[in-house]
Amino acid sequence: MLELFKRSGVPFEVHNSHTTADAPQTVYHIRKVFRELELQGIKCDIDYHSLGNGKRLTMWNLIPGKLMPPTRIARYCCSVLKETGGANRMISTGVRWDESNSRANRQAYEVLGRTKKDAIGITDEKMLLTDNGDIRKLFEQCQLKAKTVVNPIIDWRYSDIWEFLKAEKIKTNVLYECGYRRVGCIGCPMAYKARWKEFADFPKYKEAYIRSFDRMLEVRRAKGKGNQWKNGHDVFLWWMEDDNVEGQMSFEDFPELVM
Ligand code: SF4
Repeated sequence: MLELFKRSGVPFEVHNSHTTADAPQTVYHIRKVFRELELQGIKCDIDYHSLGNGKRLTMWNLIPGKLMPPTRIARYCCSVLKETGGANRMISTGVRWDESNSRANRQAYEVLGRTKKDAIGITDEKMLLTDNGDIRKLFEQCQLKAKTVVNPIIDWRYSDIWEFLKAEKIKTNVLYECGYRRVGCIGCPMAYKARWKEFADFPKYKEAYIRSFDRMLEVRRAKGKGNQWKNGHDVFLWWMEDDNVEGQMSFEDFPELVM
């Protein structure tokens, strides 16, 4: 996207929303790329979010505040941590149809801020700027947030992306060389089962989520809300869609049996 914009000659600036759940490699990559762009005279900004009391808004204090973990149908974290900027601006995103499972209902123009049910009658899920999917369009408008969105690579396939990057010798986030096909927040519910690898690679983030879930349960109790979970670890297993039965034994419980 950056390379395309540089070649297009269209004036642009670059923003990154700091979610606090990105991998360190992603944060370093963004800083490095921004430094290079700034040396080329391109304005870059990292947007941090405030709680309003002098403290930063993070994924870790957002979860207790929302009383539930972010899920695929309740991605409040994206609305709060990623999509608050850009009012009255034209925004460009890298969403692609190729990242969606089906391919129907393609058109060139769409109105954002509607639900997917409004658009194609499948679900009441709210559509976010960062959603991939068939209902995304080349040009979109969000009247509520006064944004116009263009998605220039919406019809690029996975192979098109990598052919272009290799042909043009464009450096990417090192995580793509470590088996990652999709790089977003560690633990993003949209990563489905790939989250197990993310948490194996970044165990401190797993601990941070569990601590955050523990605080979430405390707030739920204080507000008299019912709890289906005993503790943060319990929430974590539910959130990860872990199908293991409670009390189920593992080979790690019997080291003498492990060859
Ligand atoms: S990328 Fe995923 S985890 Fe990160 S803010 Fe968006 S929905 Fe939440």
